[in-house]
Amino acid sequence: MTQDRYDYVIVGAGLAGASAVEGIRQHDKQGSILLAGAEPQRPYNRPPLSKQLWTGKETLEKIFIHGAEFYERERVDLALATQIDAVDAGAREIRDRQGRRYRYGKLLLATGGSPRRLPIPGGGLDGLSYFRTYDDYVQLRRAAASAKTAVVIGGGFIGSEIAAALNMSGIEVSMVFPGPHLVDRVFPEPLARALQSGFAERGVQVLAGDRPVSITRSGMHFIVRTEKGRRLRADLAVAGIGITPNLTLAAQTGLQTGDGIVVNELLQTSDPDIYAAGDNAFFPYRSLGKAMRIEHWDHALNQGRCAGRNMAGAGETYDYMPFFFSDLFDFGYEAVGNVDASLETWADWQEENRTGVIYYLVDGVVQGVMLCNVWEKVDAARELIRARKRWTHATLRGMIR
Ligand SMILES: Cc1cc2nc3c(=O)[nH]c(=O)nc-3n(C[C@H](O)[C@H](O)[C@H](O)COP(=O)(O)OP(=O)(O)OC[C@H]3O[C@@H](n4cnc5c(N)ncnc54)[C@H](O)[C@@H]3O)c2cc1C
Repeated sequence: MTQDRYDYVIVGAGLAGASAVEGIRQHDKQGSILLAGAEPQRPYNRPPLSKQLWTGKETLEKIFIHGAEFYERERVDLALATQIDAVDAGAREIRDRQGRRYRYGKLLLATGGSPRRLPIPGGGLDGLSYFRTYDDYVQLRRAAASAKTAVVIGGGFIGSEIAAALNMSGIEVSMVFPGPHLVDRVFPEPLARALQSGFAERGVQVLAGDRPVSITRSGMHFIVRTEKGRRLRADLAVAGIGITPNLTLAAQTGLQTGDGIVVNELLQTSDPDIYAAGDNAFFPYRSLGKAMRIEHWDHALNQGRCAGRNMAGAGETYDYMPFFFSDLFDFGYEAVGNVDASLETWADWQEENRTGVIYYLVDGVVQGVMLCNVWEKVDAARELIRARKRWTHATLRGMIR
């Protein structure tokens, strides 16, 4: 049963939204909470959708962030399959697609992001997967059971992970993407080339430097035509070309937006009773000294919690340095800080392109660190970044092992 007014309303029942509930309850055990989300499932973790679920290391029942009893225990009204269509900041209320209105004391927009669509003919074809949700996983997994071939469009995190997952499921995969190599915004070229060779050895055809220009269907198959004249025919087509933050509600109610919903250090938007957190928030990243948006799990978890605490009056500056992680076959890594491949990079390998640490530097100062098959060193990496000290390659060598 829902009510008309809540002390706290959270729009978006993803990781940031679910974490905000925890944050609120750290400071306010009594306040009423509504968590409304468009998806039919209660909040779940997305990372296993492109990794452990395919290898059998995880099962769908285990990916939920909280058990159903959590929401009961914390007295949270959970409105699933509920799309919120409007925020009226003046009246302090939201409206769902059915026209129901809920007033709020504090509001959190944790609306995350939506997959970018391919702006080409066939970009909206039925069955072309823009992989992001639980339902996308279920559909792709079902289709993969009888598929022999797949085209994966995109060479970033999601494209690479899905290509690896489908390959491990015995499917012949071709990947096509415009960049020069895999995950080109983050991986230094030598590492990317080595990983790409690993993909090729496992039978994944990696077509870098090309892009799809159209997608059509021929019987049961997809035909992907590319700029360089290739014609790729496959049973499955999956696109992972990034996301755009979901800003409609924020923009429509007049909040300041740019590459995300602009928030201050307390995670308040330009309306101090409305907060934003997670993939959709453009926030001041204190340790890096710049405002940005981050699309990673650990960030949504911690920023969501902080937003929840602040909605309940904590007044806490968000000063967390999130890490992110990924697995590509047997290459696993964690990264923290600014891991932009356009910075100077220096790798301290124990085993070349396999085990070691990559430093991202500006004038000798460490901005970001990628830990390749090196575990439990994220805190050490954070310390190096926070120190803002100047290093040489010689002094950095062996700093993290
Ligand atoms: C397949 C996959 C694998 C990933 N792997 C990794 C990884 O290995 N490492 C890593 O660090 N990160 C990974 N990520 C990224 C990570 O999952 C995201 O950063 C995180 O999910 C962001 O959480 P969020 O709550 O901000 O947004 P989301 O997870 O996008 O949740 C937002 C929710 O809000 C809902 N919503 C939006 N608008 C409305 C509305 N108007 N009304 C109601 N509900 C609305 C959406 O339906 C959605 O459920 C992965 C993401 C995907 C998709």
